Amino acid sequence: MSTKAYINSVIESVKKKDPAEHLFHQAVEEVLITLEPILAAQPKYKENAILERMVEPERIITFRVPWVDDKGAVRVNRGYRVQFNSAIGPYKGGIRYHETVTLATLKFLGFEQTFKNSLTGLPMGGGKGGSDFDTRGKSEGEVMRFCQAFMSELFRHIGQFTDVPAGDLGLGGREIGYLFGQYKKLTNQYTGVLTGKGLDFGGSLIRTEATGYGLVYFAEEMLKIRNDGFKGKVCVISGAGNVGVHTAEKLLHLGAKVVGFSDYDGAVYDKDGLTEEKIAYLKDLVFVKRGSLKEYNKKFEKAEFYAGKKSWFIPCYAAFPTSRENELDENDAQTLVKNGVKAVCEGANMPCGPKAIEVFRKNKVLYAPGKASNAGGVGTSGLEMTQNSIRLSWTREEVDAHLNKIMKNIHNACVNAYMEYGADGDYMLGANIAGFKKVADAMIAQGVV
Ligand code: GLU
Repeated sequence: MSTKAYINSVIESVKKKDPAEHLFHQAVEEVLITLEPILAAQPKYKENAILERMVEPERIITFRVPWVDDKGAVRVNRGYRVQFNSAIGPYKGGIRYHETVTLATLKFLGFEQTFKNSLTGLPMGGGKGGSDFDTRGKSEGEVMRFCQAFMSELFRHIGQFTDVPAGDLGLGGREIGYLFGQYKKLTNQYTGVLTGKGLDFGGSLIRTEATGYGLVYFAEEMLKIRNDGFKGKVCVISGAGNVGVHTAEKLLHLGAKVVGFSDYDGAVYDKDGLTEEKIAYLKDLVFVKRGSLKEYNKKFEKAEFYAGKKSWFIPCYAAFPTSRENELDENDAQTLVKNGVKAVCEGANMPCGPKAIEVFRKNKVLYAPGKASNAGGVGTSGLEMTQNSIRLSWTREEVDAHLNKIMKNIHNACVNAYMEYGADGDYMLGANIAGFKKVADAMIAQGVV
């Protein structure tokens, strides 16, 4: 059987086993098809059934999360933890709270996380958890009670040397605080079992900024080796959450002009570009007031708000999707290309659909896949774990320097892998192969377990 046929047979068996899990199929397919050169060159991976083992999570936990809302009514959600791969370290990955969360979402995210964590160079396996619970529209008390109920089951499956969850979509510092409090109460232990904690109880400086900053560090490297940079470049972002706002901030520091961003309600086109003042306003609007971008042009009147639109119609040199999976489709990609986009750097997990990626590749747009370019968040989680273990807190400058180094190393790992196995500039193949190799070799060394 040819390597291609073998890869296809593994993809087909994944589809056959769980036919409804489309997001997971997409993530698996995206990775496996790029592994052909390394699988062909090194038969040991097929002989050890590494692909077959990698697409099967080591363990999946699902559980009932009953809680009481403010009216006294009993509500029930479903909780999950997918412990995907522990070959190179304890399971590590965020928890997502969103109404769309299903097992397929978390299998796709856990699979991605395994490769991403491997790329960071730190000893972290892959995992992901979540619930179909949405914090939007819930009171403080409801969010707290839900987090406590969620942890009342999760605590028995996690631990600083077993599985270390963090935040993801819909789950930020507030929720991590409640989850940590409940874990501590139930176990009577004060350990670094969660990352993204508050600075007063074991959190790391820069963790909040890390995914956005890291994304820009990666993109900067991508341009730098092509004798280019961000100074004066027009950039557009989707999303205005933690990743989006900090991406904008770092781009601004590098002299770029950020003219577009978006949220659930629509897109902002601010032709004058973001400034420190506008970023400070955005941070307050999004993180403190939990408000909507609809408010933005009430304050900055020259900006335009496009209700219900994504930001991809805005012409730019570089685009940064930081929102969520499949947010950028084939049409969006064509519009971006028509408007002259040169680089697309993913700040979210799998935000570009497969057809959009095809459009970018065909048009020689530099494409940075999320598992490489958004790894700064989990990379800094790894730094938080280190600080917790040695019971020290590093300064902002120290953490930022580590983060910068991690992103440069990931970039180099991608380049080395695409030079060895693919074509110049193929970051997708580079990231997948570099991420795969370390996990696969560790699995082989540890035997059939
Ligand atoms: N949810 C983030 C990610 O997708 C962070 C995970 C973590 O810090 O463990 O990488």
